[in-house]
Amino acid sequence: MKYQRPKGTNDIIPGESEKWQFVEKIARQVFKKYRYQEIRTPIFENFEVFSRTSGETSDIVTKEMYDFYDKGQRHITLRPEGTAGVVRAYVENKLYGPEIQRPFKIYYLGPMFRYERPQSGRLRQFHQIGVEAFGVDNPTLDVEVMAMALDLLQSMGLKNVKLVLNTLGDQTSRAAYHQALVDYLQPYADQLSKDSQIRLKKNPLRVLDSKDPQDQAIVKQAPQITDYLTSAAAEHFYQVKDRLNALKIDFEIDPTMVRGLDYYNHTIFEIMSDSKAFGGKWTTVCAGGRYNGLVEQLGGPEVPGIGFALGVERLLLVLAVAGNSQQLANQLDVYVVGIGQATDATALQLVQAIRQAGLTADRDYLNRKPKGQFKAANRQAARFTFTIGETELANQVVKVKNMTTSQEITVDLTAALTNFGTVWQKITEKRE
Ligand code: ATP
Ligand code: MG
Repeated sequence: MKYQRPKGTNDIIPGESEKWQFVEKIARQVFKKYRYQEIRTPIFENFEVFSRTSGETSDIVTKEMYDFYDKGQRHITLRPEGTAGVVRAYVENKLYGPEIQRPFKIYYLGPMFRYERPQSGRLRQFHQIGVEAFGVDNPTLDVEVMAMALDLLQSMGLKNVKLVLNTLGDQTSRAAYHQALVDYLQPYADQLSKDSQIRLKKNPLRVLDSKDPQDQAIVKQAPQITDYLTSAAAEHFYQVKDRLNALKIDFEIDPTMVRGLDYYNHTIFEIMSDSKAFGGKWTTVCAGGRYNGLVEQLGGPEVPGIGFALGVERLLLVLAVAGNSQQLANQLDVYVVGIGQATDATALQLVQAIRQAGLTADRDYLNRKPKGQFKAANRQAARFTFTIGETELANQVVKVKNMTTSQEITVDLTAALTNFGTVWQKITEKRE
């Protein structure tokens, strides 16, 4: 019997995991600058947390949920996205009190689950890094959230991305648009895909999000939301565009863009990449928008919110093609070469002293000859080797070799063991 990982999942093994750590580290650094704090919510939630918020007719709820009944007959779902769980936690922990700063800014990272047809950049267990900002309806915050998403991608070395923007207006705008869209789509009803025929009855805006080519052709001529905005919604959208201009951030408006989830309103956006990783086709790496009303939907007070989520697997596909994977490798500072059994304990003390000084160190565990140990050091691209043979041990010294310049010096063993920081400083100064 051969065991295989479930379809649509990945093992993130050494060589790959460094890239994940790099992405997560940059994300944390960028979020810190903008004063976002981390939240960790459960990977499973009650089914209703998603079914009530994502929308009954959304792909996520109709086809993609990993849901099951647990041994206590509770209807459970592996989270397909981060926002609903975060909002549930926001409400449950009353993070909206008067003593809490507004906007209340949080981020999360972790696995999400959707039953999809696996393909490049589309998995059943995938990972998102996302943010949410609660309590402020100001369009300037929308722009700051988008600017932060771009900052994040740029900090990771991603170029050639574009920001695509739309608005879904407020409830009144949407009601007016809803009617116009139904009036337009109704005559085409029997030419639409089966899914879209259902969507047309239950939630016509969803038809705009269809991936069926025939649906898309029909949708092309559909009326646009921007013609149905109330003056307040139009003003919000105007301010967003104005602030983006103030920051000299380029953007494109796509009037047919909707989100895969039903809870959005006003500003929605996607950051897309046309990287070779996606065959040069514009693909969404990061998506988000405003969701005023969602907090109330999950039993909280009337608190506006905005956020985005970034797909880590898709991001890594782009980063790999951009070619910055090498710099992500974990560099080895020192490889300790011990020659002869008598040096074993000292070599062990030495690697530990180096690690305790905050540097990376490795050694041999297979009693290899010096040649084999130097080979191992090279394979790990060690910056320095520290050699102790029986002569060095007798003289209480260590031979240090700079593997880049091949320069060698001798340092005092006791000093290296008791005060490695100072020894290291001396060694690295010499190099400069
Ligand atoms: P799509 O239209 O591609 O299905 P979506 O609208 O379902 O995307 P969102 O729910 O907005 O996607 O998720 C935000 C981001 O998460 C996406 O832009 C993408 O980068 C990533 N993502 C979504 N689904 C998957 C998946 N199944 N596998 C890998 N990444 C995903
Ligand atoms: Mg999807």
